Amino acid sequence: MSMRRTFLIGFVVLLALLPQLPVPEFWITQANYIGLYTLVVIGLVLLTGVAGLTSFGQAAFVGLGAYTAAYLTLTHGVSPWLTVWIGLVFTGLAALVLGWITLRMSGHYLPLATIAWGLSLYYLLGNIDALGKYDGLLGVPALSFFGTELKTGRSFFYLLWALVVLASIAATNLLDSRAGRALRAVKGGTTMAEAMGVNTYRTKVTAFVLAALLASISGWLFAHFQRTVNPSPFGLKMGIEYLFMAVIGGVGHVWGALMGAAVVKILEDQLQVWLPKLLGGSGNYEIIVFGILLVLVLQYARDGIWAFIEARLPRVQRQVDWHDAPALPERPRPSHGAVVLDVLAVRKEFGGLVAVNDVSFQVRAGEILGLIGPNGAGKSTTFNLVTGVLPATRGLVTLLGERIDSLPSREIARRGVSRTFQHVKMIAGMTVLENVALGAHLRGSRGVASALLRLDRAEERQLLKEAEQQLRRIGMEGSMHELAGNLALGPQRLMEIARALCADPTLLLLDEPAAGLRLKEKQGLADVLRQLRGEGLSILLVEHDMDLVMGLVDRIVVMEFGTLLIEGTPEEVQASPAVRAAYLGTEH
Ligand code: ADP
Ligand code: MG
Repeated sequence: MSMRRTFLIGFVVLLALLPQLPVPEFWITQANYIGLYTLVVIGLVLLTGVAGLTSFGQAAFVGLGAYTAAYLTLTHGVSPWLTVWIGLVFTGLAALVLGWITLRMSGHYLPLATIAWGLSLYYLLGNIDALGKYDGLLGVPALSFFGTELKTGRSFFYLLWALVVLASIAATNLLDSRAGRALRAVKGGTTMAEAMGVNTYRTKVTAFVLAALLASISGWLFAHFQRTVNPSPFGLKMGIEYLFMAVIGGVGHVWGALMGAAVVKILEDQLQVWLPKLLGGSGNYEIIVFGILLVLVLQYARDGIWAFIEARLPRVQRQVDWHDAPALPERPRPSHGAVVLDVLAVRKEFGGLVAVNDVSFQVRAGEILGLIGPNGAGKSTTFNLVTGVLPATRGLVTLLGERIDSLPSREIARRGVSRTFQHVKMIAGMTVLENVALGAHLRGSRGVASALLRLDRAEERQLLKEAEQQLRRIGMEGSMHELAGNLALGPQRLMEIARALCADPTLLLLDEPAAGLRLKEKQGLADVLRQLRGEGLSILLVEHDMDLVMGLVDRIVVMEFGTLLIEGTPEEVQASPAVRAAYLGTEH
């Protein structure tokens, strides 16, 4: 049994025993609050830690769940087992609207919008007569579970922690899935994720709604645990505190959610007792200590307490269980020599700078076209125009006769264009295998719901098998379980190629794939590219290593200052005085 599973089982046993032990009631209450907070923070782990989106509004979602439960049971006598679902619908809709409006915009709109949302809900709750204004609603009934009233902290404990454990397992499942990889990929920019076919906007909205739903369940439990609701636990201060728990605990880890909730809750109580004794008076001193603590954590343990612990645990190696998975279907190959990519008078201006100046060229099935030119010639920009990362100022790009120049990146990827990046874009904290499997995103279809419930395993095995095969192809199967961030630059580039190949592309675009590679790796790369060409793939290659280019490509396009200088065979290009001048002028 793996170390982690032992850990989980030990934890569940401990949970089951705790209320049976003669511990003071205060401990149980404390543990219940920690459980309530953990549910919310698991959502923040997914949203902030994994997807990189900051929300200060989680407390308000908790409030929505809590008030829905309290109001409907008290005034309409609705069963709590129904109000939980109604609360989920309300919260889900609120999150959907908020996410739908703000997540389209980049940058700081979400944090700002969630602050506004947190503040307005707080004042709204505090001003509605039917909700008891700032006094709130009193006398919420206890939950009753199969005839047992969960009146005591000890009986409530089991229901609460069962839900916490379920949420943890579901979140862990999600992180280990196609949908989870997409979620991780949206952190730190959307270019790579979109190039892999991920709909980053939808992914972000989903994460936001999911986190809000967890908060809503916590609110429902909260209302029936405290038996009263008022606006103060759902204000902005608590919204910040939830985020604080996530950061302290380890924002990228499900266990970190529990750790953060526990540390902050226990510390807060202790500080509230001890600090006024030490310092006199009755200020909210714990806030100052928390501020200092946060600075220390960000300085010395950026990834939180859990990452610190995890680094000291033995690393588990993923079980390989996909060898007998059926191969993924492949797309039909165009016939040899057919025009795959047609770039027609494409232009890109950045303000006054013409980065790509009415450039035209074609790539045919089963050929490697080299794109060379000095730094700043416009090669990467041309890539970005073809792959939809940048919109062209004007011009036409077609793939197998279909116009693609106005399509978003992921739609171009879906049609069979796959690429690597001049500056490697990967998910450093994910294994090489998982990074490569991200490339096969469009060849799967299982979403968040099946991932949470683990109904995606058959497809997942197919995707991982494909990833392993592509890694094997470039000779990297030995590193598949390593963290991508631990690789040297050369292998990282090779990993990107394997990821691109996972998409089963018709056209492969490689932006300086050999930079940072050793001679042997370069030769290996050239062999792989020849083999791919033999299989009918078309490759557009930007490369500075002239030995590699000249020995590999069928034709070359030379660019200089955005303009196409010459197009021809390697021999023709080498003989061209214009090319020599361009290179003598700048590089060699
Ligand atoms: P290459 O890949 O051939 O080295 P690039 O395509 O990266 O060249 O750059 C071409 C020119 O366009 C350079 O002058 C570069 O500074 C400019 N450029 C590239 N991207 C941008 C951008 N996003 N905004 C403004 N200028 C850019
Ligand atoms: Mg470049």
